[in-house]
Amino acid sequence: MSTTAFPSKARIVIIGGGVGGTSVAHHLADLGEKEVILFERSDLTSGSTFHSAGLVGQLRADPTLTKMNMHSVDLYRSLEKTDTPASWRECGSIKLASSPERMEEIRRQIGWARTFGLDLHEISPQEAQGLFPLIDLKGVVGACYMASDGQVDPSQLTMALAAGARRNGVKIFTHTRVLEIKTKDARVTHVVTDKGTIECEIVVNCGGIYAPQVGRMVDVRIPIVPMSHQYLITENFLPQGEKMLPSLRDPDLLIYFRQEVSGLLMGGYERNSKAWSADFNNFDKIPEDFNGKLLTEEWERFEEIAVNSQRRIPKMSEVGVKNFINGPEGFTPDNEFCLGETSVAGFYVAAGFCAHGIAGAGGIGKVVAEWIVAGEPTMDLWHMDIKRFGSSYNSPNFTLQRVTENYEAYYDIHYPGEERQSARPEKKSPIYDWHAAHGATFGEKASWERVNYYSTHKGDEALRPIGWAGKYWSSAVQVEHHATRNSAGIFDESSFAKARISGTRAAEFLNYVCANDVAKGVGRTVYTQALNSRGGIESDYTVTQVSDSEFFIVTGTAFATHDFGWLKKIAHEKNYDVMIKDITQELACFGIWGPRARDILSKVTSYDLSHSNFPFMHSRLLEIAGKAARATRITYVGELGWEIYLPVHDALSVWEALIEAGEEFQLMPCGYKAIESLRLEKGYRAWAGEINTETNPWEAGLGFAVSLKKDNFHGRDALVRAKENVLRTLVAITFENICDVPLGNEAIRIGETVIGRIKSGGQGYTLGKAIAYAYLANVHSEVGTSIDVELFGRWVRGTISDEPLFDPLNERVKS
Ligand SMILES: Cc1cc2nc3c(=O)[nH]c(=O)nc-3n(C[C@H](O)[C@H](O)[C@H](O)COP(=O)(O)OP(=O)(O)OC[C@H]3O[C@@H](n4cnc5c(N)ncnc54)[C@H](O)[C@@H]3O)c2cc1C
Repeated sequence: MSTTAFPSKARIVIIGGGVGGTSVAHHLADLGEKEVILFERSDLTSGSTFHSAGLVGQLRADPTLTKMNMHSVDLYRSLEKTDTPASWRECGSIKLASSPERMEEIRRQIGWARTFGLDLHEISPQEAQGLFPLIDLKGVVGACYMASDGQVDPSQLTMALAAGARRNGVKIFTHTRVLEIKTKDARVTHVVTDKGTIECEIVVNCGGIYAPQVGRMVDVRIPIVPMSHQYLITENFLPQGEKMLPSLRDPDLLIYFRQEVSGLLMGGYERNSKAWSADFNNFDKIPEDFNGKLLTEEWERFEEIAVNSQRRIPKMSEVGVKNFINGPEGFTPDNEFCLGETSVAGFYVAAGFCAHGIAGAGGIGKVVAEWIVAGEPTMDLWHMDIKRFGSSYNSPNFTLQRVTENYEAYYDIHYPGEERQSARPEKKSPIYDWHAAHGATFGEKASWERVNYYSTHKGDEALRPIGWAGKYWSSAVQVEHHATRNSAGIFDESSFAKARISGTRAAEFLNYVCANDVAKGVGRTVYTQALNSRGGIESDYTVTQVSDSEFFIVTGTAFATHDFGWLKKIAHEKNYDVMIKDITQELACFGIWGPRARDILSKVTSYDLSHSNFPFMHSRLLEIAGKAARATRITYVGELGWEIYLPVHDALSVWEALIEAGEEFQLMPCGYKAIESLRLEKGYRAWAGEINTETNPWEAGLGFAVSLKKDNFHGRDALVRAKENVLRTLVAITFENICDVPLGNEAIRIGETVIGRIKSGGQGYTLGKAIAYAYLANVHSEVGTSIDVELFGRWVRGTISDEPLFDPLNERVKS
């Protein structure tokens, strides 16, 4: 219990004294924040932290998370030199491949690690056994080793972080329970505890499994579920005085190990997971006094893991078990953290660490502290941003189905293009049944069912990519691609996120948020980016002016909460009185694109669609097949065409009328995978693909969508500065063999020097080549330069090519 008097005011209040809360406090203090208070309802570490296994691995599938974990290791190492060390032991780690597929994954990861300067290298099974002599090599195909991974004592780490925070002025109040959070005008103002009330500007919810409960205090849904997670510790049996064993993971067998004193700690991810205190109908209900406690041992659910552990380390069947731990840990629906500012201004969350919170804590503390101080993320944190979750996660049923699926597949190999199976279908297009009846293969994005392709379209199997890129590949995509380039394709894009922005200051507001001039007059459509204050691309979308006081915004399916949240945040901060309404569910959207698009559309409307009457980037209200619709001349595939927006109840009749009108022109219904191939060829950027908060429009080749003529828009100053100092460029790379398809994150080198990593890749069927995009230093980005890209340990030659790769003069788009 702290003896400091209870404060009446602070700038920042952190709720939760686990490894997350103390790390955020530590980093805020490091950044010079002076008025930071941390409340913990019991003792520090008494949530999930005290019973953690403490393994710290750095390499993850996501580059940002890898950088964060690398920061954790640097920090934990440096804490050893302070008066409050964290008991960091840099014992290294081994990952075993017990299947050929796992070995492929390992080789792919070794390639990524190279781009981070991480010393991950392949070792033979025998070398693995040399490092960890207890291993039985039966079924082991190969392995990798990273010397800078390690283990830490989670409680000591938390105490060390808390000590560092205290040294820099943070006040920590234990046994102080937050009961209520007060807001005014959707902004936090006060935190009420059982010891008193404090006024504050910012609240950071570091409540671990209790985070959803804290979120409910301000009506914010935090889709985290407490899941039981188990491990055991054996009796001591290792010889004394020897070098500490590295940590060991054998994901094919679902298990991990580390040395604990002179025994082994062994845990894993059960295939029969179990939520705790939450179920399919109810949110979590954690007992008031659940601190410093564990759950009842569940040997039955652990049996598969125990048996597997004995297969890999036969000694496990001989040694006794000293301790069996079953503790709850907060899992999110996609195994990524849940970070950032929520829909309530000033209310941040840093929770849902999915059993890698000890490895992540250092990095989490850093990025969340920076986010709070800057008011926006300082790295590309989209994968961890709470705003990635849409409204479906308001349902306990949907959330738990997703969490369960993810928990149980935690150690599985996740191939690109893999689709979620649980909780489907959730959101459907109004013409979903038509697609299903016509052979659609659906994918899921942000809980929307979308057509990936129609399996009735049979293409050339010989184009199947080599390796992983060929796993979830269909020859139908090339057929749909060619139909769009040669005649026309029709795409159901009803899941697009759409918003109406209205108010007398709507034009002024949008021209402040957007980098482009978006108020060009009624009926004009503009592609724009919204920038953060560093000039990074916070979002990109199209804006159509509908009237003097109303605009229509369309953005990607997954970005409604994020992009519209950003608009609301800026409106709030800058006092723009505008209405921002999400109208995604009201309108269907069809894209009809290709050289015959005009011929087809002309058959179902009397409107003059000629280029002179209906130019590119214009939008009109017209009648299509007898129904009122908005048609916008725009394309995401690089062809002549329109996007048609209409009320959902009219969607089916208009779709069928278009299909019928298109019959004589070989119009083909197509899916999202074809869009991906078409847009890669044309060089259209995708947010969260080639562009994100860390990239600016100059380096991304999007300077054409910036209007520096406007003297005031968000991020302008940084953007002007950035223009003087563009150090890297987004380049298009082509590969002669269309089957050599990079997936993202692969290392790029010239000679023996690694110069970058791939951002995105795919197949360009018109080009007849594989395509990738990457940011390279200007010195390396000259057109014609040969580079090598590592595809599963194989270096493949690519060429930096002139952009756009397809129709550089835009003749097709503007025909
Ligand atoms: C069995 C097990 C093994 C694990 N092994 C590993 C591993 O090997 N490596 C790894 O990286 N991670 C591991 N983890 C995960 C890791 O332990 C967690 O991710 C991490 O400890 C979570 O930290 P936290 O700060 O988010 O939550 P917590 O430690 O739970 O802290 C949240 C705190 O908030 C407090 N709080 C909640 N509500 C209030 C309120 N209203 N007022 C005041 N205070 C409040 C709680 O009392 C609690 O102390 C493991 C987890 C488990 C369960």
